[in-house]
Amino acid sequence: MQHPRELKEPAAGIAISAIATALNLAWALFLITFGRRRRSPALVADGWHLITDVATSVGVLIGIWLATLTGWKVLDPAMAAVVAINILWAGWRLTRESVSSLMDEAVASDVSRNIRKIIAANADGALEAHDLRTRSAGRVTFIEFHLVVPGAMSVVDAHRICDRLEAALTDGIDGAEVLIHVEPEGEARHKGVVVL
Ligand code: ZN
Ligand code: ZN
Repeated sequence: MQHPRELKEPAAGIAISAIATALNLAWALFLITFGRRRRSPALVADGWHLITDVATSVGVLIGIWLATLTGWKVLDPAMAAVVAINILWAGWRLTRESVSSLMDEAVASDVSRNIRKIIAANADGALEAHDLRTRSAGRVTFIEFHLVVPGAMSVVDAHRICDRLEAALTDGIDGAEVLIHVEPEGEARHKGVVVL
């Protein structure tokens, strides 16, 4: 900024930037739509990252245009500084988001309530469900719990209840992956949450 230089070929610069910006915008909109449809937070995040690039580029285009219009040479390096700050900020934000999505989190309380309701409504024949654990990783919601059945119940019958619960949970919860641990009555350690 202390030694601003004359802009060479600002028209070509503006044209190339405008084309690149338009391509970025189209690609960003595609990523966001496709990512939402496929329930991929990574693709949607990529799309929004590109949108910030597009916003920056539009700012730069206005800067270059103003610089040529007014002959105020310091505008060009000033815009470069703004772009640099934006890159640092976007980098920090993306790092933070990636780290938090790597750490699996339990599902929101309303989803958890819904899961309990579905288990309670579809576990006819079982005695109790406990130790319900949930975690979200990307588009998948992992659901694990213990199911207590009468000790004399056959494996076929217990498995039928599990299949019914799995189907109901897959229907009711987006991206559900269900794992059920079956226990005979009497062995049940009563810890965690009782659903039934
Ligand atoms: Zn148990
Ligand atoms: Zn099975």
